[in-house]
Amino acid sequence: MAILDSPYFDDHEQTVCCRDPVSGLTAYIAIHSTTLGSALGGCRMWPYASEQDAIDDVLRLSRGMTYKAAVAGLDFGGGKSVIIGHPRDDKSIDLLLAMGRFVESLGGRYQTAEDVGTSVADMAVLRRETRYAHGFTNAAGEQCPATAFGVFVGLRAAVRNALERDDLNGLRVAVQGVGNVGMRLCRYLTEAGARLVVADPNEAAANSAANEFGAKVVATDTIHRVAADIFAPCALGGILNDQTIIELAAPIVAGAANNQLAEKRHGARLRERGVLYAPDYVINAGGLIDVAHEGPEYDQRRVLDEVAGIADTLTSIFRRSDEDGVPTNIVADRLAEARLRRDPPPRQTPLDEGIRADIRRPVATTTCSSRLLKKSSHLQL
Ligand code: NAD
Repeated sequence: MAILDSPYFDDHEQTVCCRDPVSGLTAYIAIHSTTLGSALGGCRMWPYASEQDAIDDVLRLSRGMTYKAAVAGLDFGGGKSVIIGHPRDDKSIDLLLAMGRFVESLGGRYQTAEDVGTSVADMAVLRRETRYAHGFTNAAGEQCPATAFGVFVGLRAAVRNALERDDLNGLRVAVQGVGNVGMRLCRYLTEAGARLVVADPNEAAANSAANEFGAKVVATDTIHRVAADIFAPCALGGILNDQTIIELAAPIVAGAANNQLAEKRHGARLRERGVLYAPDYVINAGGLIDVAHEGPEYDQRRVLDEVAGIADTLTSIFRRSDEDGVPTNIVADRLAEARLRRDPPPRQTPLDEGIRADIRRPVATTTCSSRLLKKSSHLQL
């Protein structure tokens, strides 16, 4: 199995192969960087076709976590773990306990949480063996608002930048995927007066967005082509590629999905086409910010206030992109790399205090506020 030869190897500090023959566990933990602190990143369970696929994925995802934490201003590094297996058929208590022991063996250099294929309930099992597994349910079973909230404020910052508008009233947003984050984002957008078009292969989810928010439902292979003001990818990675970028009708892309650009160069393609792209790991950092604050002192109001800062970060990135003529994804990468080098903080483009207050105000006062105060039950980092 090639770690050093993987195209995704990026001088990762440590990669651990975890095997427990009794429970059948085969997993990898990758710590990309602890420069800024303990490496934080979810535990994914997926039926990878090969161990090499699992290694490539854990290396790629852990590096992404380093960048996400760095730009979010968190004192955490980047890590990730992947368990090879089908979450429905192969998961067992013994397997999760074994995973917990491996996480514990790293003494806190790596901290985990739920991700694709694992749940907060699984994290509760890991916690029987390790102090370093996050993710808590609340009694009401409420889902996490932090990621969707961050995407919402980030989307508003993009609108302000590209359309020079302070409100979303009457704007059309095409939301790809109405799962945990997409559905919640739809609620924020509707309350802000936006009109919605949605697509999801899960018919029940799409219909529920239609019933609850009056969203128009379109086919999944056409959503990126819909004539809209904003395209919000909240489902898949790789959605911004050679084909879709040509077909894109919206002047703004701002959504929750991880790894939206099929390749780095697609950031430049978007810029050439005059599309403003909100870099994915910047706009979707709300979940990570929430997990980073877990603990006895947890205060969701404070967390959401920090999540609102995503709007400021994006505004600075957009302005820097304009000033330097560089794609937004590259500006974001440079920001992360500067923080990792511990360069002095860049000159912040001063944001008008009124703008800052306005970006933050609406959500604190919408009818969502009671939901916002509930603790998360579904977070991905
Ligand atoms: P989810 O699984 O709850 O929802 C994803 C939705 O996308 C599902 O309803 C699914 O049916 C739909 N979908 C799948 N293929 C589709 C397609 N071709 N077209 C349209 N819809 C499609 O996941 P989520 O938690 O809402 O996360 C959404 C995205 O945001 C993912 O890329 C995830 O990695 C990313 N993300 C989530 C969080 C979080 O806190 N949940 C944090 C950061 C990033």
